[in-house]
Amino acid sequence: MTTAIDSPVAGTTEPRVYGQFIDGAMTDPSERLIDRRAPGTGKLVARYSDGSVADMEWAIAVARRAFDEGEWPHLSGMDRGRALLRLAEAMRDNKALLAGIEAEEVGKTIRMARGDVDGSVGMVEFAAALAMSMHGDVHTNLGPDFTALVVREPSGVAGLITPWNFPLLLLAQKLPFAIGAGCTTVAKPATWTAGTTLEMGRLCNESGIPAGVFNVVTGRGGVVGQTLIESHSVDMVSFTGSTEVGRTVIEASRGNLKRVSLELGGKSANIVLDDADFEDALDGVMFGIYFNGGECCVSGSRLLVQESIADTFLAALVDRVSRLRVGQPLDESTDVGAMVHEDHLRKILSYVDTAHEDGGRIIAGGHTLTDGPYSDGLYLAPTIIDDVRPGSRVFQEEIFGPVLAVTRFRDVDEAIALANDVEYGLGNTVWTKNIDRALRVARAVRSGTVWVNTTIDGAPQLPGGGIRASGFGREMGQAGFDEFTELKTIQIRTGKRDPYFKV
Ligand code: NAP
Repeated sequence: MTTAIDSPVAGTTEPRVYGQFIDGAMTDPSERLIDRRAPGTGKLVARYSDGSVADMEWAIAVARRAFDEGEWPHLSGMDRGRALLRLAEAMRDNKALLAGIEAEEVGKTIRMARGDVDGSVGMVEFAAALAMSMHGDVHTNLGPDFTALVVREPSGVAGLITPWNFPLLLLAQKLPFAIGAGCTTVAKPATWTAGTTLEMGRLCNESGIPAGVFNVVTGRGGVVGQTLIESHSVDMVSFTGSTEVGRTVIEASRGNLKRVSLELGGKSANIVLDDADFEDALDGVMFGIYFNGGECCVSGSRLLVQESIADTFLAALVDRVSRLRVGQPLDESTDVGAMVHEDHLRKILSYVDTAHEDGGRIIAGGHTLTDGPYSDGLYLAPTIIDDVRPGSRVFQEEIFGPVLAVTRFRDVDEAIALANDVEYGLGNTVWTKNIDRALRVARAVRSGTVWVNTTIDGAPQLPGGGIRASGFGREMGQAGFDEFTELKTIQIRTGKRDPYFKV
């Protein structure tokens, strides 16, 4: 059961009202505001400025000036890194606020939201180290008369566009890497969940990051987001969101051929082989799909389970899932929180409704929770659909909710074929205690990440990203840092030049 809990955010019951964060200052809120109601309670918790094209153009001009004329790109890596370490500390000091905002706005559990803040701090710290050690190469083996420098430089003005499911963590996969490399930035957070991105503006100020290096414009994706991706003053766009909008980003980038990095949708599989550690696989499958309410790009939304163990595994899974506590995001004991928005909940339910038509059987959940403590929020019972056919919509399409599609397979070859039988290629997981089978599957499945006997783990040091309809480019790790840089080759000849034309 769930209990109503008042907003933990700054101890107030008043909605937070924000302007835009541009040039190191928060503007007055605009006349047109976008109301955000907490999906867990239905209460109005925030009001965001509905930004205009002019707001975005102003922010881009500010970032452009900060890059072209400002000190930031020319600071030493040590100084940029130190500023990031101060930012990490400021985030730590504001953990309760940041986590509270995320739990309220996204509907994720407060335990999870705290973990997101910790993870985000780790990103900033790691990016600080990369900023400090950013360097190029020297080539001295080109012959006695040639020396070449391969210089790594910041890309310029970077547009950072983020979705609503991990607002802070996904910003933290971009922002510190971008500014650590010397870029200046304009962020466009998702309309439903802009709070922590705006708070990061204040924290950047407190950390001594100069005005103009980080700017935030809220508003509709089709208005302010579109202006950002089309702008000729923006050198690169790092986008995380749906595959559909990712295609729009590519089209908009044509104008000035800006560099683009796309982190898009997924339809990840958890492959459970008959020699898996049963308990580990059970826990991992549950975590994979119900963590963050299934609103995660790498959610293990498909369970591929070997026929020989399928019935036993599913019986245990259904039993365990029935014990998950769906409830108020701010309740410490909640396992699965609220769905982000009624439009999104409607979309998830439309998939559940098609399951029967495609031959699937709902063996857990499949309905909303609306009585008593759930009455003001957007809650969905953890759902499992068995007998899902590969051609069906619930197998192929990203549902982005706590809905697990189960398909059985006979042998490893069939498991690999099923895992690869979707357009996405983000992350897949295999559960087996046999090293030969583990490596065979890991090498054959087509995705940016493969987990073996663990799932949705990560570390700032490890690059993450997708292939195929899940996008391209990498975040985190050295590769994620390099996305925000360009290489310049400087070739130097010493001594006398041998004339080419002997005239
Ligand atoms: P979305 O609808 O694509 O929106 C993502 C961001 O793009 C939002 O800030 C949105 O603004 C903005 N946007 C919308 N239209 C735009 C346009 N024409 N030009 C520029 N920006 C525009 O995605 P979502 O529903 O927020 O997030 C869910 C999706 O993100 C899922 O597909 C999920 O798999 C994906 N995702 C991927 C990763 C990854 O690392 N691969 C991680 C997390 C999520 P508004 O909010 O104002 O519409």
